[in-house]
Amino acid sequence: MSDHSIKRQPVNPSASRPVVSPLQPSVVYATETPDALDALYEGGARGHTYSREGHPNAATVAAMIDRLEGTTGGVMAASGMGAVSLALLACASAGDHVIGSTQLYGRSLRLMTEELPRLGITTGFFDPTDAASIRAAAIAGTTAILVEVVSNPTLRVADMEAIYAVAAQIGAKVIVDNTFTTPRAYRPLDEGADLVLHSVTKLLAGHSDAMLGWVAAKDPEIAARLDVLAATWGMTAAPFDCWMAERGLLSFDLRFERAQSNARALADALDGAQGVSRVIYPSLPSHPDHNRAGTLLGENAGNMVSFEIIGGRAQANALTKAASAIAFAPTLGDINTTLSHAASSSHRALSEEARADIGITEGFFRVSVGIESAEHLIATFKKAITASQTGID
Ligand SMILES: *Cc1c(COP(=O)(O)O)cnc(C)c1O
Repeated sequence: MSDHSIKRQPVNPSASRPVVSPLQPSVVYATETPDALDALYEGGARGHTYSREGHPNAATVAAMIDRLEGTTGGVMAASGMGAVSLALLACASAGDHVIGSTQLYGRSLRLMTEELPRLGITTGFFDPTDAASIRAAAIAGTTAILVEVVSNPTLRVADMEAIYAVAAQIGAKVIVDNTFTTPRAYRPLDEGADLVLHSVTKLLAGHSDAMLGWVAAKDPEIAARLDVLAATWGMTAAPFDCWMAERGLLSFDLRFERAQSNARALADALDGAQGVSRVIYPSLPSHPDHNRAGTLLGENAGNMVSFEIIGGRAQANALTKAASAIAFAPTLGDINTTLSHAASSSHRALSEEARADIGITEGFFRVSVGIESAEHLIATFKKAITASQTGID
């Protein structure tokens, strides 16, 4: 009797190989014998068993980011927030204290203020540009310090030397969210950090079509814990997103170069332009942390530019309307330029006074500069700023 059931058939061996990594969505991996499975679990043989515990597409993209950050054993997570969560869970348990910068990514702040306390982990905050504030926050029992080198959206540059010094004194782990700076501008593990993480969703993957995170630790014990935590808490990444990110990563270097040179050109063009009250870009001499930016980042001031126009919400609405060629969207790191408005998005939960304290007004915009022609970009912004200032009182 013939077998009418539909089965997967092994593919015939081929004399050629694909140049692109295959997308391997297989959830499960078959082995020949229980002994072979033992060898896999015990590390005697290389291979995968179940995709929540790891799969070829995650391994490929993790190794690429490992190389960029100068490390090994990085773990892929389903999102940047997955990576932030893994890093904090790996460094703190009930009874521990974790401190972070007041200017962290919004969800990271929320994780620290709302979620960690539920697990019995207390939290505190410091101004990342103020050494005294960092020292004051680092109380006894602090096991981890979470920081971003360049803050969003005011682009303040953290006093990393003070953070490393305080951490060494109290034996805390420094976790750097390197999403904004990228390993092109700053390699945290070379500078004194213990863990480094990325929202790969942003500049590394670069096309706003993959949601992904990556986290690595210097200490092998913490690195192993990250791996276990990802599988146990179910934070691992899907093969498709890893596969997309691999493609994006191949052009990261080129995209970064171009986006950064565009950002510098845009910052220079808007600085002092009519209708613009302030431009924030680390390489501008007017930047409050200009010297520190030079020391930490060298020439790599990045692809993010913030600016403030004269006026309030009406002028802000007019600007985004007039700049309709540029996506008004709360993200960053895309191959195309995106524009965001902190008062109505990332910082909307804050009171107007609290926003004003960190310099965020209704006229404040953040630009994630992409790889378009610089001339076109500058012309679009200038036209939109002019439009925002006319016809509205
Ligand atoms: C976007 C972002 C995150 C979170 O990443 P997701 O991939 O959106 O979860 C964390 N940190 C920074 C600095 C980010 O910009």
